[in-house]
Amino acid sequence: MIDLLLPHTCGMCGRHIQSRNGERAEICDECIKALPRTEQATLKQNSTEMTVLDQPAQIVRAAKTAHLQRAGAFLFYEKQHPVQRLIHLMKYADRPEIGRTLGRLAAQEWRDSDFFDEIDIIIPIPLHSKRLRERGYNQSEFIARGIGEVLGIEVDTTHVFRIRNTPKQALQSGDSRKQNVADAFAVLHPEQMYHKHILLVDDLITTGETMRACLNAMKAFRGATFTVFTLCKAL
Ligand SMILES: [Zn+2]
Repeated sequence: MIDLLLPHTCGMCGRHIQSRNGERAEICDECIKALPRTEQATLKQNSTEMTVLDQPAQIVRAAKTAHLQRAGAFLFYEKQHPVQRLIHLMKYADRPEIGRTLGRLAAQEWRDSDFFDEIDIIIPIPLHSKRLRERGYNQSEFIARGIGEVLGIEVDTTHVFRIRNTPKQALQSGDSRKQNVADAFAVLHPEQMYHKHILLVDDLITTGETMRACLNAMKAFRGATFTVFTLCKAL
């Protein structure tokens, strides 16, 4: 019945997929098998960690102050690869459930590693309220909720905010991008986050600027430690 009411296609290959247990599926079984996994849950000093850290003094300082524990991406993101279509649908075409599906999958596949150990709370990188209104959802929040459902950890969207609506990053050069994102974030009631181990979740890491700017704002969470999870790592 649900298939008649809600015909649905795989976000990667575009084929029609049947609902599973009365729930719409976002990605078909074949495409789930074919996802370009990074295996970074068990790989320390991986390319995502390097992207977050391996930059000038500013970042090293931010990481030290922010107590970065681990960073990892679930999938590699390459232009022209079918995963690009999947991420595009998730971000721009009103299919945020793709994010939840992939968040769940990552948590299921990584839960036997120590990557998600001892995390107290999950915080998705926020969108600016204006962009949130335009888009109707924050895709990173859906990824975070998928992870939270599997691990039984709360997702928080009330302590970190985006206070500047940065222009689309792809349109800018490196320096102006850095400048634009540097003070884009602010926190509220930091004392409620003191000494927590926070899982910070984003959809795609390219230069790492956004992640570092957010970590920098979260320095106000005294004694907190951070693990960074991104759904995709740009190649
Ligand atoms: Zn498919």
